[in-house]
Amino acid sequence: MSTINKIATNALHAGHDTNATAATRAVPIYQTTSYVFNDTQHAADLFSLQEPGFIYTRLNNPTNDILEKRLAEIDGGIGAAVFASGTAAISTALLTLLRSGDHIVASNSLYGGTYNLLHVTLPRLGITTTFVDAQDPENISKAFQENTRAVFIESIGNPKLDVLDVEAISDKAKQFKIPLIVDNTIATPSLLNPIKYGANIVIYSLTKYIGGQGNSLGGAIIDAGNFDWTNGKFPEFTEPSKGYHGLVYSEDIGDAAFIAKVRLEGLRDFGAALSPFNAFQIIQGLETLPLRIKKHSENALVLATWLKQQDIVSWVNYPGFKTYENYQNTLKYLPDGQSGLVTFGLKGGYETAKLVVDNTKIFSLLANIGDTKSLIIHPASTTHQQLSTEQQINAGVSKDLIRLSVGIEDIVDLKNDLKEAFSKVLKYALK
Ligand SMILES: *Cc1c(COP(=O)(O)O)cnc(C)c1O
Repeated sequence: MSTINKIATNALHAGHDTNATAATRAVPIYQTTSYVFNDTQHAADLFSLQEPGFIYTRLNNPTNDILEKRLAEIDGGIGAAVFASGTAAISTALLTLLRSGDHIVASNSLYGGTYNLLHVTLPRLGITTTFVDAQDPENISKAFQENTRAVFIESIGNPKLDVLDVEAISDKAKQFKIPLIVDNTIATPSLLNPIKYGANIVIYSLTKYIGGQGNSLGGAIIDAGNFDWTNGKFPEFTEPSKGYHGLVYSEDIGDAAFIAKVRLEGLRDFGAALSPFNAFQIIQGLETLPLRIKKHSENALVLATWLKQQDIVSWVNYPGFKTYENYQNTLKYLPDGQSGLVTFGLKGGYETAKLVVDNTKIFSLLANIGDTKSLIIHPASTTHQQLSTEQQINAGVSKDLIRLSVGIEDIVDLKNDLKEAFSKVLKYALK
């Protein structure tokens, strides 16, 4: 498909050979657990990778396969694997890469679930993490240890909304010969392709903007195929795999070693496969991602600018503001839009914030982002409630912070909805 290289086209066509699916124009849902083998020899050849094909839906499925090929193509990767959730994609990526005794350097501005995985759960398995303010890439290299085996960042951190210098961070990881993993969920592949800036592995929660309609969980790992696993630090890829009859991934598979191990061992052993029905829903979303993310970004910028002018609002954060402290990163990485998340604080702090959130009608109070419909949450009392005050501050969650996931409704209605909610708490806030 050499004539097709733009996202708006790839989002609709990549990975789908209509001749292979009974000429269906829409991607069909292959709702099956398993696939009939021609005979025992065929079965044996599939299991030993002598022949490509479908075995069991936990490992691969024709609907999921189209989604995987489409995502890989859009992001410039050599392969992808999809999962039951973004969290499953993250945990499978890390457990494929790391073993007990290994260390991760991560940005301190991470999705709450990821923070807990790194901070609480992985240490139980002997894998530890140092969290740093990655807005200064020097902080990444300062945290490297002998046993560091991965750098993990979000291209736009949530809820701090810090836009990181992916290329500078990738240079630090390269010098230390370890892979850079970028969770690109909030930016989406429509606004940013981290692989262009040196990322080795890209992660998505497909639940958010890619699915985009708030109806299906999903996750993905994209392998850039640009990391040298034979540099001496990654025996998982250079020694015969006990889990796959002595396969040496770096030799037998080559550039696609990582994503092959993710599928052959990660999906097999951890089992967080995506349902083909959800893959279908997510494909419907992906097809309109370039249109939607443009509208999300436009609405968010207009609303953030309007919020700044309201008396009751004490501060507003949006990476599209020229006053944003790392605006040079916005210009370099997100010139076409900065996605739909906006955070702000209100005079009157915690109590006012809770009251406003209780009084919106179009903005739904819930724990999700990236829906076509506008969403609102007060992280200090919900998603980040379990963190200590110091951890909240490091994660950028002040007590008064309200997070908006701005949808694609009419902007006038969104402003009026907030105006109405503000009017209910005005006396309280300005007293
Ligand atoms: C939501 C989210 C995740 C987790 O994805 P799920 O699909 O909810 O498991 C990971 N990273 C980011 C940035 C997210 O917003």
